[in-house]
Amino acid sequence: MSNKLVLVLNCGSSSLKFAVINANNGDEVISGLAECFNLPDARIKWNVSGKKDAIHLPANSAHSEAITYIVEEIIKKEVGLAEQLIAVGHRIVHGGEHFTQSVIVDKQVLAELKQCSSLAPLHNPAAILGIKAAQEAFSTLPQVVVFDTAFHQTMPEKAFMYALPSHLYKEKGIRRYGMHGTSHLFVSREAAKALNKPLAETNVITAHLGNGGSITAVKGGKSVDTSMGMTPLAGIVMGTRCGDLDPSIIEYLITREDYTLETVMDMLQKQSGLLGISGISSDFRDVANAAAEGHKNANLAIDMFCYRLAKYIAAYTVPLGRVDALIFTGGIGENSDLVREKVLNLLTIFGYQIDEAKNKATKLGKQGIITQENSPIAMVIPTNEEWVIAEDAAALVSA
Ligand code: AMP
Repeated sequence: MSNKLVLVLNCGSSSLKFAVINANNGDEVISGLAECFNLPDARIKWNVSGKKDAIHLPANSAHSEAITYIVEEIIKKEVGLAEQLIAVGHRIVHGGEHFTQSVIVDKQVLAELKQCSSLAPLHNPAAILGIKAAQEAFSTLPQVVVFDTAFHQTMPEKAFMYALPSHLYKEKGIRRYGMHGTSHLFVSREAAKALNKPLAETNVITAHLGNGGSITAVKGGKSVDTSMGMTPLAGIVMGTRCGDLDPSIIEYLITREDYTLETVMDMLQKQSGLLGISGISSDFRDVANAAAEGHKNANLAIDMFCYRLAKYIAAYTVPLGRVDALIFTGGIGENSDLVREKVLNLLTIFGYQIDEAKNKATKLGKQGIITQENSPIAMVIPTNEEWVIAEDAAALVSA
């Protein structure tokens, strides 16, 4: 099978992750990160076949300078790959209701993407900058956009509607969209393979636990409910995001305390979650280390993280009826035996019995079942969102 190499770009507001992936098997030929955009310290680091390198970009560089450097200096000169690329795949956080699947970029798609920007004001404009810079750098290559929200477009109305006056949905598009779709799609597909069942007959609950996190009920390969909402703020406890919250707290803080809307939203997005509760860090490893040393609020942060997670998992038995497997993925899901053990112990009502040795051994990229033989199945599946993007891009280009 010939290589199908795709340049995958994941543009944030101040950083850009990139990789060249073989869509046939997910192999990463090269990967890297450009960061600190618009700052004196703008830089790029990358990794080619285990060899790491880094350079400083000119001060205040951003997407366009970074993409030019990635294309000219790394992909063309260093690894001589440019002529083998078949497409550029872009991760887009929010596709609204318009985008239910990945598409090749044209003028109309760009215009529609701009319209979705109000739903993800921090992320979508950055991705559009990335598309434009990639179009300039590779004028002959097709650009494909792959959406975090698309996988969740199969949710039924009863799951995606908020209990608000319905004109807000019809006229303003206010509804739950869900995120991390490529990850939930990837691990649910891998779970069906691991269970040796047809995807259409496989029901799983997928817990993507990274710095951001979301839980999805996947029935026969389709998302039927998910924990994030119109934006990535809703759902479980995250690194710095609060997850579900009584909205009246916002009014309370603004009208009775000295907060503005801006400071409240900044707090909910950037100073809450594991960071806010523990007062230590948004990084799970730091919080776990402090908890192990007896830090009270670090312990509370982990307890709240696991408790909320377990409640979501229990709730998602409702849309599924039968659960073939519970899947842990993302940095925390793939590596923290502590979280997995705590969560499964909170779910013993469903019969989960952890296999402690397997649970402890399954980390650092390993896949496997972490429950005992007579227990319902819980397993770890490392995610690979970049591979999904490369596969979708390759499929669209071949079609
Ligand atoms: P992600 O956003 O998927 O890269 O995940 C980032 C989160 O994974 C951070 O909170 C990390 O602390 C956490 N993480 C990464 N490695 C480990 C590990 N070995 N044990 C526990 N948590 C980890």
